[in-house]
Amino acid sequence: MTQALFSDDFKSTPYWWEDAPIDESSSAELPDKVDVLIVGSGYTGLHTALQTARAGMQTLVIDSGHPGTGCSSRNGGQISTSIKYNYAELEKRFGELLARDILTMGKASLDYVGDFVKSEQLDCDFEITGRFHGAHSAKAFSRLVHEIDQPNPVFNSDAYTVSREQQHLELGTDRYYGGVVFPHFAAVHPARYHAGTLSRVRASGAKVVGQCTVENIKPVANANQQQRFRVNCSTGVVHANHVVIATNGYTGSLSPWQQRRIIPIGSYIIATEEIDQERMNHIFPTRRMLTDTRKLVYYYRPSPDHKRVVFGGRVSLSETDVKKSGPRLHKELCRLFPALSDVKISHSWAGTVAYTFDSLMHCGEHDGLHYALGYCGSGVGMASYLGKCIGQQIANTGHVEIPLSKVPFQTKAFYTGTPWFLAPSVWLYRMRDKTGF
Ligand SMILES: Cc1cc2nc3c(=O)[nH]c(=O)nc-3n(C[C@H](O)[C@H](O)[C@H](O)COP(=O)(O)OP(=O)(O)OC[C@H]3O[C@@H](n4cnc5c(N)ncnc54)[C@H](O)[C@@H]3O)c2cc1C
Repeated sequence: MTQALFSDDFKSTPYWWEDAPIDESSSAELPDKVDVLIVGSGYTGLHTALQTARAGMQTLVIDSGHPGTGCSSRNGGQISTSIKYNYAELEKRFGELLARDILTMGKASLDYVGDFVKSEQLDCDFEITGRFHGAHSAKAFSRLVHEIDQPNPVFNSDAYTVSREQQHLELGTDRYYGGVVFPHFAAVHPARYHAGTLSRVRASGAKVVGQCTVENIKPVANANQQQRFRVNCSTGVVHANHVVIATNGYTGSLSPWQQRRIIPIGSYIIATEEIDQERMNHIFPTRRMLTDTRKLVYYYRPSPDHKRVVFGGRVSLSETDVKKSGPRLHKELCRLFPALSDVKISHSWAGTVAYTFDSLMHCGEHDGLHYALGYCGSGVGMASYLGKCIGQQIANTGHVEIPLSKVPFQTKAFYTGTPWFLAPSVWLYRMRDKTGF
């Protein structure tokens, strides 16, 4: 039955890879020693590498898969400020100064990607499309209206509400109770953005090694200033002065301190086969990015060529197969847009994102290891930005103070990195969403 939902040329790999195939050519040879060793070749790792390599430091990026096969070539390509709290909530938790700094950093991360793409002349369909955030219930819409009225002393987001009566100007569905438009949020082709960044990293002289797992990192006794760590990898040993953990949702036993603070969660996503322009124009008249107010959020968008829908969300209590998540996402897509019920799934894939116990991303230094991770499903802009900041800190280029390094990175008693509570939490969120809360 569900088999009929898949197109004949269905693939269980990201749609984005059609246009930007994964680079399988990366060097396998490890140098004996480097100034900076970065674990993870996603946006975080690459933006760090670019800063250190351009500052003349010998830089090595290692990934257990081919470069970019983590989330950074699989995501929805939506770019926001990544901060899930408003000013009042941040101020209550952290006080005025830090609240301002965190919001400023969110805005800086949004701006950074646009500036970077422009200055590096990356061809990756970057566009300031804006985002429509739909309210899944009347209660949620009231909350959004209240939220928009809250003062933001840091920057003017220009966000505005759209009533249910007016929402067809934004989106071809009656399912939402109105929503909010964030006009400055942006879109990118995530895999082309990654591929373009990778090419700049290589051109800067950094070495990127794929299919090599970093197995452990040991401080070197009597270390000199060039070799503070001995890094054991599946294909050899490297000595490094600085090590950066840029593993986000794939953080494992290599760095147990970070692993205890990260909640890895699968995010599932599909692309449809091509759809006629009349239906695409009706559904996406403004070509914006889309999300909604549900706790188990759905995020979706037209593809950059405006021919397909790319639709993602969390559709199962526990992790599942993409052949199972695909039809569930398709069902929700058709609930929002019944006119798409004859449209098949051409690609269904997933990746692992990293949530944290306080829903904030974190970065800093622990036991001498630098880290930036925990983007809570929203890391295209923030991973790029924090990667850049860490790189600048290591290279000592510019004055870079990262406000998040002042926020304690919490864990819970007995939590070791396996989120046993995920299935009951997803179930609770699902019930909450159903009641319209
Ligand atoms: C389906 C999906 C949709 C998403 N949509 C959006 C979106 O629209 N907007 C948004 O802002 N964010 C989105 N995200 C989140 C975003 O993609 C991530 O936050 C971001 O890519 C994180 O980048 P990163 O470099 O920190 O980690 P990743 O890109 O995940 O890279 C981490 C890398 O570390 C490597 N690694 C781990 N351990 C080791 C080891 N021991 N040795 C060697 N290598 C190791 C992994 O192989 C992996 O390649 C989405 C994520 C998914 C999965």
